[in-house]
Amino acid sequence: MKVIRARVLGFCFGVRRALDMCLAELGAGGRVYSMGALIHNPQAMEGLKQKGLCLLDEDALPPFFSGDTVIIRAHGVSPLLEAELLRRGARIVDATCPRVKANQLKARSLCEEGCRVFLAGEKNHGEVIGLQAFAPGCILMENGGEAENAAAELKKNSPGFIKTALIGQTTISAGEYAAIEESIKKYFPDLETVNSICNATAERQESLRELCGMVDAVIVAGGRSSSNTRRLLAVARAEGKPAWLVEDPSGIEELAAPYCGDKTDSLEPRCPEKPCLARYQTIGLCAGASTPDEVIDQIESKIKSNPD
Ligand code: SF4
Repeated sequence: MKVIRARVLGFCFGVRRALDMCLAELGAGGRVYSMGALIHNPQAMEGLKQKGLCLLDEDALPPFFSGDTVIIRAHGVSPLLEAELLRRGARIVDATCPRVKANQLKARSLCEEGCRVFLAGEKNHGEVIGLQAFAPGCILMENGGEAENAAAELKKNSPGFIKTALIGQTTISAGEYAAIEESIKKYFPDLETVNSICNATAERQESLRELCGMVDAVIVAGGRSSSNTRRLLAVARAEGKPAWLVEDPSGIEELAAPYCGDKTDSLEPRCPEKPCLARYQTIGLCAGASTPDEVIDQIESKIKSNPD
């Protein structure tokens, strides 16, 4: 079975930076916490936990940190949470990706200028929750339909001119962002659209589209909780390719089993008559921005070990 890798795949700058900062803190000794999962990859998180990293739950913070280190994850936290950590005695190491940080500051300055801010992104995603805190009163939406309804409602309730701006989660696809922009502009043609999409995300999506032209099916390597990884899966399927998301080599074993229809939630279509992978000769391999190199290598080896 032939495997072709996407031109760009795996760790992005922000994730690698957060990981390096965390490893440096763990190496320096002392108790080190991370505010939720530092990166959305189970293997990478397991490795960090084995080195001593403790995970914090926002709803169950320790009463006092005594100067212990708390690392802020790559997709950031709300300023309120950061202030609470400081109040409880934490030493903050801010690993928020500079790209996310720039969006947070832009969202804040738009609000301070009196803009009504539309925020495009996944409702319960940590980055979006953090961004909302920088843009109090922002209108959150996930797609063009929601944007159209929200913009129509705002227009109805604000007949005069109001300044509006659109900012998005760094991992939103360019197509979705453009659809949301278009929906809002029907009601607010002067909308200011912030270029908030991270190049790392766009690059991985673009190189996946190129890859789709060369392969029969696609494996997306990465954590199911990773937003940019799930979006890669959606991109491959939108390109008309059978595609599956696998977190580790065991996911490939499931796809290669005689009947894999019920074994993973990421299968499409069901294949009771033949193993999924055996139906394809050339498999494209891409990976989310939080997938470690060694996991990509292991998954590639596993695919190649399947008979043609
Ligand atoms: S995907 Fe982009 S914004 Fe997100 S952590 Fe990576 S470099 Fe930063």
